[in-house]
Amino acid sequence: MKNISQATVEDVRSLAGSKIFRRGVEYFAEGCVVNPSVLGNEIRAEVEGSSSSNYKTYVKLERGKLKSDCSCPYDWGVCKHVIALLLHWINRREDFEDMGKKSKDAAKMPKADLVKIVETLAREEPQTFSKIMELALPQKISNETGSPDFVKQALRTLEHGAGYQEMSSAMRQLEAWRQRMKIRLQTKQYDYVAEQLCRLADACAVHYGSFDDSNGQLASFVDECLADIEKIWSSVGEKKRIELLALIWNRAEKDDYGFEDSFDDFLIKACKTSVEQQSLKKPIIQKLTMLEGEGGKNSKSGAMQYQYERVFELALNLGYINKKGVYLQD
Ligand SMILES: [Zn+2]
Repeated sequence: MKNISQATVEDVRSLAGSKIFRRGVEYFAEGCVVNPSVLGNEIRAEVEGSSSSNYKTYVKLERGKLKSDCSCPYDWGVCKHVIALLLHWINRREDFEDMGKKSKDAAKMPKADLVKIVETLAREEPQTFSKIMELALPQKISNETGSPDFVKQALRTLEHGAGYQEMSSAMRQLEAWRQRMKIRLQTKQYDYVAEQLCRLADACAVHYGSFDDSNGQLASFVDECLADIEKIWSSVGEKKRIELLALIWNRAEKDDYGFEDSFDDFLIKACKTSVEQQSLKKPIIQKLTMLEGEGGKNSKSGAMQYQYERVFELALNLGYINKKGVYLQD
């Protein structure tokens, strides 16, 4: 398939199991697909579902294959909303608004009219407007001096802290910042996103004491941030990776609120190349030697012994020492 207009019912049928496909057919027949639009090889629509708000559904053709996404909670592959959207596309193409034509028309408008459009968008759809600003101006952002510092803004929530009652509100704020950082992945700003996520995880750990996290929401949030970074790690530049490893180690070393396992785990998974591994060798060995000097190995203080054991484990996993604690040469 070279063009999404060539998609057939058979192509759609092959995307999902027969049950999902049947449900998609019903959704299409019931007219659940609304506000459909097309831009090049991408089609979008809202699909009415069981929730009160419509799902945002999206299909594009990429390297000859149909790729889809939907805001519904169905997680096990292509959902019925995607099927319904594609069937609508195949059977009722005239309903789809041609956004390519629309944007070309808009580009020809006098500047005063465009300003009016921008102002209306900012007023009526502020979230969409912010998102568009972030996506449409990657050149300005890619030098990173002009990029918004989401962590700085999230810090306000973190510095404020939250009691049990305020937890879910605080988590929603933090989650919103995380999602806004991740939007930048669409413009392939991996260094920037990884750094923002690292600093966010770090800031959460620093301010953890001001939160009543008895449900563990903030703790899982930190783990999710670290998992996000892991996913894009190989696309991050080496210089930035080294810088971020140092930042994470710095937090892991301080070990204030019990995040050390998460951070240690991250370091072990993230240090894939020997350059990465070497970059942490000196500080980790230094820490281990220091703990040894303070009698960490046989300390009567449980906390001190625990510290020693985990740094030992980290050094072992990163190949700096062997199981007997003998330092290994490069
Ligand atoms: Zn869906």
